[in-house]
Amino acid sequence: MFDTHCHLNFKAFDGKVDGVIESARNAGVNYFVVPGTDVESSKKAVEIAEKFKGVYAAVGIHPHHIYQYQIAKIKYQSFDKLRIDPERSRMDQKYILNIKNDLIQIERLLTSTKVVAVGEVGIDRHIYKNTKYQDYNIGENFIDLQKEFFIEQLKLAHKYKKTLIIHNREAKKDILEVLSNDQQLAINNRIVFHCCEPDFVETGHAPSLLRFAKKHKIYIGVDGDVTYWKEKQDFVKKIPLEMLVLETDSPFILPRLNRDIGKQEKHLKFPNEPKNLPLIASCIAAKIGISLDKLEKITEENSKKLFGIS
Ligand SMILES: [Zn+2]
Ligand SMILES: [Zn+2]
Repeated sequence: MFDTHCHLNFKAFDGKVDGVIESARNAGVNYFVVPGTDVESSKKAVEIAEKFKGVYAAVGIHPHHIYQYQIAKIKYQSFDKLRIDPERSRMDQKYILNIKNDLIQIERLLTSTKVVAVGEVGIDRHIYKNTKYQDYNIGENFIDLQKEFFIEQLKLAHKYKKTLIIHNREAKKDILEVLSNDQQLAINNRIVFHCCEPDFVETGHAPSLLRFAKKHKIYIGVDGDVTYWKEKQDFVKKIPLEMLVLETDSPFILPRLNRDIGKQEKHLKFPNEPKNLPLIASCIAAKIGISLDKLEKITEENSKKLFGIS
């Protein structure tokens, strides 16, 4: 099986990666993609991928972490109000340089042979309560900055012919707008909507994520929340099998055990791990009515196509 999205580069797995990969292999999970969310975690993803067979990396700056540049921007703009002009231009330059430097570092990482994708990148309108950023809030300026980063990183994916891992949370309209304006989308169409929101009902205005994905041959990543979220279960029944890939998003999105069976609900403990991927697979296989064997085989083939791994 192929876990197309697991953050083995996150703190939850510090010093434990060997064991986590071994238990995943024992559970039949042999391929992994580790996505970065900023420069540091992208570097770490590459380090891990270069060390283990079957492990690949994605590099990129996640929309949530673009808040660091937003904070810097606000800080530097406040110099404008104070009319300290020489200082302001110095700070402006520093701010722009920071962004450029970070994108250059991401670009450098793309030359590693174990890097198969740019990701995770995209747009995120969710207001996180648990975040390292103080006063985290979603304003239109911040969304514009997220879009800029998304577009820059999309260009990198085109330039280096890498797959694109798209993170969308509550920002379908923005994401589809960027993708619809992208002239090269059809040329380099190895894309996945990771942890895809269950959006398949056509309302008449914008297309559903599923319809857009079908039109542009975009893969759909499904996570452990399918084990308890009715809407996701309805959603997976609508996804064409050749577009489906599996992911744990470890250490997050713990699947639930024996949800359907009885009163006593068993819960897995944080962190989620790639070894839990079979729980997701068996839930989906049961929901769509095919054998687990077949589902595992098809999703593994899909994932290899998605990331260009033979
Ligand atoms: Zn994500
Ligand atoms: Zn993720």
